[in-house]
Amino acid sequence: MSARLTILGSGSSGNCAYLETGETRLLLDAGLSGRQIRQRLATIGRSPESLHGIIITHEHSDHITGLTGILAKVDVPIYCNRLTKEAIESTLQIKLNCRIFDTGGSFDIGDVAVDTFSIPHDAYDPVGFLLRTRSGNIGLLTDLGHATKLAVERVRAANVLILETNHDVKMLQDDPHRPWSLKQRILSRHGHLSNEAAADVAQEICSSELRQLYLAHLSRDCNTPELAHRVITERMQKIGATHVNVMSTSQDTICPTFELSMPPSTTPAAPVAPSLFEPTPYAGGYASA
Ligand SMILES: [Zn+2]
Ligand SMILES: [Zn+2]
Repeated sequence: MSARLTILGSGSSGNCAYLETGETRLLLDAGLSGRQIRQRLATIGRSPESLHGIIITHEHSDHITGLTGILAKVDVPIYCNRLTKEAIESTLQIKLNCRIFDTGGSFDIGDVAVDTFSIPHDAYDPVGFLLRTRSGNIGLLTDLGHATKLAVERVRAANVLILETNHDVKMLQDDPHRPWSLKQRILSRHGHLSNEAAADVAQEICSSELRQLYLAHLSRDCNTPELAHRVITERMQKIGATHVNVMSTSQDTICPTFELSMPPSTTPAAPVAPSLFEPTPYAGGYASA
């Protein structure tokens, strides 16, 4: 059977996606309300009761807020690292049935192999994922202040990539409602990716095997789906990557389900553009304080 990915919602106030393979049904983050997650799963004929696990990137509320509602009714295992578990339990005042992973390690959930890697973001131990299925690979790369060499390398094998395009830098700088300190946090190396920074990442990881690029975690006030789409599409066209379908996501609506049906390539994917990044390996997970 093919693998199916459905973005149930994504934006700076809520993120949740659903992945289903022949053997495994997973949520990727649970940052919509429990009720919304249940309703949106129902639109594709699924429910939290049939989940095999929920994998969590980090403890910010836009990634975990639905856990309380879901776990009140269903005992689903939560896959996260130890610091994230402790932060969630403290914030939500719940005890999690956890399968702890070490950041940087890999583990299997049924027929899905999950590779984890550290990303630079202002959370306790934030991670990105590469989910490897028999039908192809899905990269999840949101909530990072800058693209590290490590993160880029880890998602290079993706056939589908969920990539943060959080803000337009000028819209963020001009926003009258955000205090300067918050703007600084978003723009920092442990904040969020701008459209332009995401375009650099997309260019860097874009291979002949990449098929679908979801633009995720958009700020409601400091970005628009059209602007993010234009910036990324123009870059893809510039490097000749017209085989990649670019789609903006929204917090308010579910995306059409994407079906991965290709067998994963046995040969390394060929890059379509020269590297934008330093050829030297990234030295470590975090900048010094
Ligand atoms: Zn975050
Ligand atoms: Zn977030």
